[in-house]
Amino acid sequence: MRIDLHTHSNASDGTQPPADVVDSAARAGLDVVALTDHDTHAGWDDALAAGERLGVRVVPGVEISCLRGGVSVHLLSYGHDPHDTHLGAMLGASRTSRETRARRMVERLGPVTGLSWEDVLGQVHGDATIGRPHIADALVAAGVVADRDEAFGTLLSGRSPYFVPHTAPDPVEAVRRVVAAGGVPVLAHPAASKRGSCITDADVETMAAAGLAGLEVDHRDHSDAERAHLRDVARRLDLLTTGSSDYHGTGKRNRLGENTTDPDVLQALDRALEQRRTASAGRARGA
Ligand code: AMP
Ligand code: ZN
Ligand code: FE
Ligand code: FE
Repeated sequence: MRIDLHTHSNASDGTQPPADVVDSAARAGLDVVALTDHDTHAGWDDALAAGERLGVRVVPGVEISCLRGGVSVHLLSYGHDPHDTHLGAMLGASRTSRETRARRMVERLGPVTGLSWEDVLGQVHGDATIGRPHIADALVAAGVVADRDEAFGTLLSGRSPYFVPHTAPDPVEAVRRVVAAGGVPVLAHPAASKRGSCITDADVETMAAAGLAGLEVDHRDHSDAERAHLRDVARRLDLLTTGSSDYHGTGKRNRLGENTTDPDVLQALDRALEQRRTASAGRARGA
């Protein structure tokens, strides 16, 4: 059984519609794929319908943008109630802040590159969650850079004078919200040091105490030493360890199924989800 628990569609910054991501997953020989777009559930219905059609199990998820002490932290949530109002408000606030931030970056980039906000909107599908990859696509379309990689290495990097941060919730608070919404939270690429500063082990411990269920260990942005360290942390804190591609279609080099999750880990995630559903049904009955 081949399981990939982290992918993006054009509901955020992937390049394919959700159903096509699932189709590509089937062609890549995956049995299970999670759709985890940034800060939105917009792709869930199409992905789940495609999964039924193609005989691929689709795990509905999101990747929640968080910030702690100026460090960007990404939290995956699986299987939560998409109608939960608190979690929904948190994701909505992030999407709004991402748009404001993207506009500011374009204001800074405009005088040097000729880029306009309309150029960026031309790269965004419907009301997809806007990210730097869309600005990158507009820069590629305008012939300023060759591809997303070049854009991220230069004009859009966190160290660039054109970079503007967006506001985002604290990851410990996000873990609590995910748990309250009946979801299972897993910390995405916790040690991806190439991208910038990473969350500390002490903060991972605080998140574990708040209900974090696992760490994404096998991810292309982690070295062998980082994976070994994360496995130690997971053992010490009794956390599950997952592996995934973080596929973005043609927007990134990551290929579906390049890292996978053990079937036993998926079973444990399923058990945790089942327990949370039972618990929230109990609360709904006033038990
Ligand atoms: P943002 O969330 O808007 O700050 O943009 C960061 C997103 O861009 C991350 O979710 C990554 O998936 C994506 N990203 C980061 N580096 C690259 C890259 N070199 N090429 C394509 N996408 C990237
Ligand atoms: Zn992304
Ligand atoms: Fe991420
Ligand atoms: Fe991702």
